Order: sequence, then structure tokens, then C-alpha cells
Amino acid sequence: MAYDFDLFVIGAGSGGVRAARFAAGFGAKVAVAESRYLGGTCVNVGCVPKKLLVYGAHVADELEQAAGFGWTLEEGHFDWGTLIANKNREIERLNGIYRNLLVNSGVTLLQGHARITGAHEVEVEGQRYSAEHILIATGGWPQVPDIPGKELAITSNEAFYLKELPRRVLVVGGGYIAVEFAGIFQGLGADTTLLYRGDLFLRGFDGSVRTHLKEELQKRGLDLQFNADIQRIDQQADGSLKATLKDGRELFADCVFYATGRRPMLDNLGLENTGVELDDRGFIRVDDQYQTTEPSIIAIGDVIGRVQLTPVALAEGMAVARRLFKPEQYRPVDYQNIPTAVFSQPPIGTVGLTEEQALEAGHKVQIFESRFRAMKLTLTDIQEKTLMKLVVDAETDKVLGCHMVGPDAGEIIQGLGVALKAGATKQQFDETIGVHPTAAEEFVTMRTATR
Ligand code: FAD
Ligand code: NDP
Repeated sequence: MAYDFDLFVIGAGSGGVRAARFAAGFGAKVAVAESRYLGGTCVNVGCVPKKLLVYGAHVADELEQAAGFGWTLEEGHFDWGTLIANKNREIERLNGIYRNLLVNSGVTLLQGHARITGAHEVEVEGQRYSAEHILIATGGWPQVPDIPGKELAITSNEAFYLKELPRRVLVVGGGYIAVEFAGIFQGLGADTTLLYRGDLFLRGFDGSVRTHLKEELQKRGLDLQFNADIQRIDQQADGSLKATLKDGRELFADCVFYATGRRPMLDNLGLENTGVELDDRGFIRVDDQYQTTEPSIIAIGDVIGRVQLTPVALAEGMAVARRLFKPEQYRPVDYQNIPTAVFSQPPIGTVGLTEEQALEAGHKVQIFESRFRAMKLTLTDIQEKTLMKLVVDAETDKVLGCHMVGPDAGEIIQGLGVALKAGATKQQFDETIGVHPTAAEEFVTMRTATR
């Protein structure tokens, strides 16, 4: 049977664009439908605008350090409107680049909401299209717990378009987004409190990293409240918000920001017209080749809820394009040792096993840990400490994990990701000549195991 397209991609985000472009490059006839914004979450309300705001907040650190290097600065003034307008301009530029990438690679771009009407059929704006394969790459959406007053709260989607920087912010959650936005709001001058329901935030990260970041954020004056959860939110007569906690305490703010995880975006997608099944958490169930339970339908990226990171969605998109249209180049995605950064202030960089995971997996571990004040701070009064940690298998000498909290952690951890992928041993780390004077050299000069 002749189809309109070989591949119909739903969602022009990180995964969808990558799969579409490469499939078209391999000679397939490809369409992409996008209902909202080209480039998806990452480009519009995720990684990119977030990092620009993180840079904006970090300027405050540079200004604070300036006096130690002999600079006398006049009282600075921050303007949220300017930062947001400049950010928006950059995002629009990137939207245009994504459009060109798709169109120039021969992909048919359809603007509008896509709804699957059958195993091989998709409807966009009243028009039906047939395709041999349908790829669902619809990403995720912020999830806010169902409490009274939840409509008064915002999520990351709205935070990027706030008209003004709120004076007082309550950030709820203890994952990537909560920690990053707490740093953004506080760095830009808002009075910021982070509320997390458990004992210590960043569950799943290495224990030393979690404790170290907690201490550093407290040193910076961020109000961290653990074992704290909001029961209800009420608007006050003056427009401000009152959050009543489960323990009865009342906190007042101008903005309550929820970062409590993301659900798969399946709204009006038409899955009921297919044999696609969801897993226990509500994400699309796929096998190790991203095949859903409907043979003609594939799914990748945040909507499958495996690892919600852009480079992972890109790798999955690439794997699908190759498997379908260039099988001789197919390689499965390697989910081991995925390097990642949390762009908190200071940031986290991490790759490989945490100490807790290594022990749980039965490794006999040796831990190398170093805490030091970065050279850049020695001419200032700032007492921030950097943490570096290696988790090593005591029997094979293989480095199982590298963890860092400190300036440029994301930049530093990328190279260590290559080392771990190559299976580097601690001896090879030791034999690597350092780059002096840097903070990064500490990763190759930690000689004595701390435990
Ligand atoms: P998305 O990029 O979400 O794309 C899905 C697209 O599908 C969207 O454009 C959507 O409009 C469209 N769509 C949905 N339904 C339909 C439909 N029915 N019809 C047509 N179109 C539809 N990751 C990192 O690696 N580093 C970071 O620093 C980072 N920061 C982040 C910060 C924030 C605030 C957030 C929210 C996420 C961040 N992420 C980061 C995660 C990253 O953005 C996601 O993992 C990534 O975007 C997932 O890509 P995707 O292709 O699965 O989906
Ligand atoms: P995460 O899953 O990382 O964190 C969610 C947080 O919310 C957890 O601390 C969780 O607590 C808490 N939580 C969940 N449900 C509730 C609830 N009902 N009440 C109170 N607290 C709750 O989600 P995020 O929203 O922060 O980010 C989504 C994903 O996006 C990340 O996991 C990451 O993959 C990606 N991302 C990546 C970034 C990067 O690479 N730098 C930056 C931003 C996002 P608990 O731990 O107790 O379950």
C-alpha cells in the first residue's frame, strides 16, 4: 500500500526534529506536525532559556567578586524585562533555525495539533495523512499536585514569561528544575524559599553532592525548608499569596512556583484509536527499539519517561531514523554513564554511579573526595567550597562515578564522561597530567582514598 509519508513525526522538539531530519537525509519521505513551538521544550521553555537566565543570575556572583580584583563598581541595577526580552529574541532566532533545518532537509512541516486516527493515519487541522511509520515525540508537561489553590501557582512554562521578577518566591520540589529556578530567582534578587517534601533534595544524586549543595545554598542565604509541603494556596486581599503547609505553618509570597515533575504529553493524541499501551507510570510503553505495542507506531523522548534529557531524546531520534532507514548504521542508545549537570548556583556535574548505587550494585568501593576553596575566590571574602568526588571499584580500579559541585561543573564533567565510557581506571586518571592551575585538575590529583 502506498502511504503519503514513510515517517510521520508528531512533535518538533529535540527527539522529533532529530529523527525527522536524519530520516529525510537517509531518503525517507517525512512529515512533522508541531502544535506549539519549533524546537520543543528545550528551545522554548527548557534548557536554552533556563541557561540564559542562569547566566543572568550568575552575573551577581561576578559583581560580588569584582572588588577583590580591584574593581570599584557603582550600585548595579537589574531589569527583568530586558533579560526576558533579550531571551525571547534569541528563542525566536532559534525557532527560525529549526524551521530552516527541517525545510532544508526536505521534511514537510505541518503546523497544528496532530491526532492519531488509526495505526497508519494522523489528522492535522482537519486533513488526514497516511504513513508507514508514526513517531510520537510529544514530550512532557509540568505536573502540579491537586491541592486547593493550585491554579494560583506557576510552573516553568509561565516563569519564562513573567512580566516582573517576583519579590518573594516559594519554589516547591527538589529536582533539577526546583534547584535551578531557586538559584535563578535568588541570584536575580528575589527573596527565595525552596520547599521539599523529603529530608534532603535531589533524590538519586550522590549523597555527598546533595549535602554539599545544601550547605552551599544555605551559605548563600537561600531559605531551604525540607520535610515541608504545601496543603493549600490562598490569594490575599493585596494580591499576594498565602501558602499553608501540612504542618500548619503559613508562608507568604508573591509567586509560588511548582517543579514537581513532568507528565507525558498525550492530550487529545488519539491513542484510543491505536493499540498503544501505557506503562505503570502513564508513559508510553516501548521496547528497546522504541517500538510501542502498535507495530507501526514508535515513541521516543520524554513521552516514554526513560531519561528526560535533551541529548538522550536526540540519541533516541537518531537511533530510530537509522533503524528504519539506514539499518547498517544502527547502534542502540547506551544508557550507561550519561553525564548530566544541574545548573544550580553553584552547579552540579555528574556521570556514572553514585556511591550509594555502587554499594547497592555490590561493588567494593574506594572513595576519593576533595573539598577546596577555588583559587578565583582567594582574593575575595567568599567562602564557597568546591566538591569533587570519585567512586572507584576497589577490585578492578575502574572509575565508576565522578561527581562535582562547583563553578563550571557541567563543562568539566563532559570530558570525564568520555573517560568513563572508555572504561578508565583510577590509575589512568592518576597518570593523566593535570591542567594547571584549574579546579578540574583536582580530578587527576586525588591520591589518597578518603574511605
Ligand atoms: P519536547 O522537546 O518536549 O518536544 C515535544 C514537542 O511536541 C513540543 O514542541 C510540543 O509542542 C509538541 N507536541 C505535543 N503534542 C503534540 C501534538 N499532539 N501535535 C503536534 N505537536 C505536539 N534537558 C537537558 O538535557 N538539559 C537541560 O538543561 C534541561 N533543562 C530543562 C529545563 C526545563 C525548565 C525543562 C522543562 C526541561 C529541561 N530539560 C533539560 C529537559 C528537556 O527539555 C527534555 O528532555 C527534551 O526537550 C525532551 O525532548 P522531546 O523531543 O521528548 O520533547
Ligand atoms: P524531577 O523529577 O527531577 O523532580 C521532581 C521533584 O518534585 C522531586 O524532588 C519530587 O520529590 C518532587 N515531587 C514530586 N511530586 C510531588 C508532590 N506531589 N508534592 C511535592 N513534591 C513532589 O522533575 P523536575 O520537574 O525538576 O524536572 C523534570 C525533568 O526534566 C528532570 O527529571 C530532568 O530529567 C529534566 N531536566 C533536566 C535539566 C538539566 O539537565 N539540567 C534541568 C531541568 C529539567 P521526590 O524526590 O520525593 O519524589
